[in-house]
Amino acid sequence: MSLLSLTNVSAFYGASQALFKVSLRVEQGAVVALMGRNGMGKTTTIKTILRMLPAAGGELMFDGEDLRRLPSHKAARLGLGLVPEGRRCFPNLSVEENLTAAARPGHWDLKRVAQLFPVLEERRAQSAASLSGGEQQMLAIGRALMTNPRLLILDEATEGLAPIVRQEIWAAIATLKRETGLAILVVDKSLRELRQIADEAVVLQRGETVWHGAMGALTPDITDRYLGV
Ligand code: ATP
Repeated sequence: MSLLSLTNVSAFYGASQALFKVSLRVEQGAVVALMGRNGMGKTTTIKTILRMLPAAGGELMFDGEDLRRLPSHKAARLGLGLVPEGRRCFPNLSVEENLTAAARPGHWDLKRVAQLFPVLEERRAQSAASLSGGEQQMLAIGRALMTNPRLLILDEATEGLAPIVRQEIWAAIATLKRETGLAILVVDKSLRELRQIADEAVVLQRGETVWHGAMGALTPDITDRYLGV
C-alpha cells in the first residue's frame, strides 16, 4: 500500500478548474519530485493533499485513510508535514518558540533538528525575523519535522536562496532520506538536484499528469517538452 495516493483527483478555484484527474503515488521511504512549469498545478496539488482545497472527484488516500472523508482537523494530524512556499515562520517568535510551537511527540525534537541544522541552535533565542533567508528556510523545514510527519512536503524550498545555501538545504534533504527514510514529496525547479535525490517523478502540464515514472527514466526529450523554458 502506498503512503500517499491520488487517483484522478480534480480541483477547482471557484468555477475555474485547476486540476484534471491528477494521479500520483508516494511509497514509504521514497522521494518523489512533483514537476512542471510555473502555473501547472503543483501548489494546487499540494493544497488538495492537505485539504486546503477540496478534491472534486477521484480518490485521495494517506496511509490507508480516505482523506476526502476525514474532517480536515483530523487530516492535519495524520502526519503530513508541509514546508510551504515562502517559508512563513512566525516572525516575532524566537527560533526555539517557532520549533516548539509545532512540536508533536516522536523522533524529531529540538536536539535532532539542531543536529540537522546547527545554525538553528546558534540562533535559538533570536527572532525568526532576524534570520537570513536560508536560515528561515531551515527553520521552516525544522518546524515541519517537529510535527513528526510521515510525509514531508517541500514546496519550492530552495527558491530565492544563494547557491551555497541551496546546497545546504539539498544536503539536509539528502541526510533526511539517507538516515531517516522519511517519505518526501518535493517541488523544486533545480532539475539537477532532483535527479540526484528523487526516486520517482510526476510531471504536470495545465493541471494534468502528463508523465510519471522513475527519475532515471526522465529523458531530455521529456524535460524539454514539459519543463523547458
Ligand atoms: P508555481 O511554480 O508558479 O507556483 P504551480 O505549478 O504551483 O506554479 P499553481 O499555483 O498550482 O501552479 O497554479 C495552477 C493554476 O491555478 C494556475 O493557472 C493558477 O493561475 C491557478 N490558481 C492558483 N491559485 C489560485 C487561486 N487562489 N485562485 C484562482 N486560481 C488560482
